[in-house]
Amino acid sequence: MERIVKKIRQEAKEKIERIKNKEELEKVRIEFLGRKRGKITELLKNITTLPLQERPFAGRLANEIKREIQQLLDKKRKEISSEEEVEERVDVTFPGRKPRIGKLHPLTQTTEKIKRIFVSMGFRVVRGPEIETEYYNFEALNMPRYHPARNEYDSFYLNKGYLLRSHTSPVQIRVMEKESPPIRIIVPGRVYRRDAIDASHFPMFHQVEGLAVDEKVTFSDLKGVLSSFAYQMFGKTTRLRFRPSFFPFTEPSLDLDIQCVICQGKGCKTCGRKGWLEILGAGMVDPEVFKKVGYEPEKYQGFAFGMGVERICMLKYGVDDIRLFFQNDLRFLNQF
Ligand SMILES: [Zn+2]
Repeated sequence: MERIVKKIRQEAKEKIERIKNKEELEKVRIEFLGRKRGKITELLKNITTLPLQERPFAGRLANEIKREIQQLLDKKRKEISSEEEVEERVDVTFPGRKPRIGKLHPLTQTTEKIKRIFVSMGFRVVRGPEIETEYYNFEALNMPRYHPARNEYDSFYLNKGYLLRSHTSPVQIRVMEKESPPIRIIVPGRVYRRDAIDASHFPMFHQVEGLAVDEKVTFSDLKGVLSSFAYQMFGKTTRLRFRPSFFPFTEPSLDLDIQCVICQGKGCKTCGRKGWLEILGAGMVDPEVFKKVGYEPEKYQGFAFGMGVERICMLKYGVDDIRLFFQNDLRFLNQF
């Protein structure tokens, strides 16, 4: 019995010494400690066939060798796994992972561009609240209660005469109430209207509003500032068209069109076969608005303009559906 044990121990030691990987280790473990035909397992089973007085000694011996082999295998297992880990860590042939680089949303990029252009012309950026009173949203802008123009701004009303602002123009009033001319500001921000969602409407969108007030501000100044903006935004060769329009808070008022960026004026679906695309509305500040904020209309003149950021972005990049901006689809966003 002792001789057999010694032989098995020797054999096991040699085999464990030669193990190189997990597969070999498992093979050796089964050979000696396997539950069905492991050599040690057999040995333990055979003890029952020995004479009664020899059994305790043989049992102790077999259990000792079992423990010893188990320990040797555990030691080997640790060696192997730490070797494999090191190998994994320094595998220089493994292809690298490309880090994903974040970028700004196209609407943010467009707003930033609009801001840069006007700031370079001496305008400063201000912001105002998105929850407004009817006074700032309408009345101070020359739209008293029951004024028909209010219908064009289908607003979200809250309690007690508050509403989500339907344009950024109320911020003009807030600034003029606090400051005296000269004023040159632009106001970027979110606005809200109860529009049904389709390819060109969304209940929340972004505007940039502008206001300049001083002595001797003329309609030519307005045309000059807007032309400069359009050329910087859409390119120096862009053709422009100023068209008479109406807003309750400006007089005279105009719309600015650029020649269709899709068809170059020939007429297509995007421009409704007209060859021109409206990019913003503007005008000379109505004297009634000046009276509301305590400016003397005889002394000061000013112009104001407003544009939709989504529209500018859509025209600049040829995006045909406003909903794409709000779906967070990386395949769309990564193109900008
Ligand atoms: Zn067109």
